[in-house]
This record gives sequence, C-alpha cells and structure tokens, in this order.
Amino acid sequence: MGFDPVNFTWDYSDDREYGSLQKESRRLSRQNTILLKTVEELNSKMEKLSLVTTAMWQLLNQKVGLDETDLIQQMTALQGKQHDATHCPQCEMTLSSRARNRGQCVFCGEHLHKKKKVKSQN
Ligand SMILES: [Zn+2]
Repeated sequence: MGFDPVNFTWDYSDDREYGSLQKESRRLSRQNTILLKTVEELNSKMEKLSLVTTAMWQLLNQKVGLDETDLIQQMTALQGKQHDATHCPQCEMTLSSRARNRGQCVFCGEHLHKKKKVKSQN
C-alpha cells in the first residue's frame, strides 16, 4: 500500500484489499443486526408460548384435575409419535416428507409403512 520508493510507483493493491475488507465488515455487521433481531423475535414468541402453555396447564390442573403424571404420559406419547414420523426405524436417520411419502428410507433402503394392518371390527 502506498508509494514504492524503489520503483517510484504507487501500489494500490492493499488499498483495494482494505476496501474489500471494509465492505465485508459492513455486510457482516448488517447480517449480525438481522440475526439479533430474529433472536429477539423468537425469544418473544417463546415467552408468549410459555405463558400460554403454563396458563393452559394450570386450567387443566385446576378445572379438570389432571396431574403431572398425566402430562408426562402425554408428552412421552407425543414424543414417540414424532419420532416415528420423522426417523427411519432401521437406521434412525431423519427422513424428509418426500421420503416418508415414497415409503422408503433414502439412507438404508428400509421400507416404511410396515405396520401390521389392523382388522376392523364390524
Ligand atoms: Zn434408514
């Protein structure tokens, strides 16, 4: 950068690099601002969801008489359903909705929808 006294020339290469770094720094700063705003929004939504969940749980506990055992049983059942819906039962890899619709795991080839058909009781 600057004047080269040996060749009596100006070297602008570092100036350009400096400008490029400044530009990248401004881009990262803008990106950081956007990410911080997103985190604040998500935090706000999470606090609201937590408040709603707590209020609903207190109502169910007080008005209907459900207790923590009922809650834990339901949470465990939901987790099981979610796990079945999104992971291959053979290799445990997360499956896309496309793979689930196709009925075959793209990682190990396991055929999904192997559930036994339950005879209807007529
Ligand atoms: Zn698999």
